[in-house]
Amino acid sequence: MRVSEITNDGWLIIDPCGDVRRVSTAAPVRDIRVILDPGHGGKDPGARGPTGLSESRLNLQVALEVAGLLEQREISAMLTRAGDYYMSLDERVFLGDAVNADVFVSIHHNAPTAAKSNKPGTEVFAQTGDDGSARLAGLLHQEVFEVLDAIEGIQWTSRWDAGALRVVNSAGDDAYSLVRKPQTTNALLEVAYLASPSEGKFLATENYVQLVAQPIATAIETFLTTDDLGTPLIERARVHNPTGGRRTCPTVELE
Ligand SMILES: [Zn+2]
Repeated sequence: MRVSEITNDGWLIIDPCGDVRRVSTAAPVRDIRVILDPGHGGKDPGARGPTGLSESRLNLQVALEVAGLLEQREISAMLTRAGDYYMSLDERVFLGDAVNADVFVSIHHNAPTAAKSNKPGTEVFAQTGDDGSARLAGLLHQEVFEVLDAIEGIQWTSRWDAGALRVVNSAGDDAYSLVRKPQTTNALLEVAYLASPSEGKFLATENYVQLVAQPIATAIETFLTTDDLGTPLIERARVHNPTGGRRTCPTVELE
């Protein structure tokens, strides 16, 4: 919780809904190395799968599982939300920076329809100009892709430029504020396409949550304990303007 004011008998804090509340007891958060950020929540369910499963719920299930695995490996982790409630993007960024974590990982599942593919369409977005973020994104991509790719019988969905990459708006800034704003070394993971019929059904199984949490935890541990790079960052950034952005045409070299 974000502390707004210290009073004689406790604290005034700002709850996840943005309301000020008075609390008399609190346990301060210390020595958190990893912030896991389950995307969406509350009034914002995110993508929706073929079984009706919301992205917000799935993101939270995966994040909780990853946090458990990290704790087993003695890496302290905290979630930006621990239930189905709304958290603004700025509040999530603030939390990560406020506890001075080493790593901030946003967990998402993709929605837009992309082409059918025989390979998983895992995407991990890195912050421009931050080598640590590129390395974190590369490790997350390498570990998660490898595990998903080994599963048989799934019709995957993917964009041609899936991988570890940067997504910038037409002004050249990182398009997603969750990637652009954190001071903490960060990456945003879009594991697979929840909104696609075949893989969406698979993502709704209990088995999936257990399966994908392992490589995410391993990528984070590898980032913290080695200099490994993982999947190299795709050289050319994807151009995307999330909301109300100007539509621009790609520059085409005429032969
Ligand atoms: Zn999402």
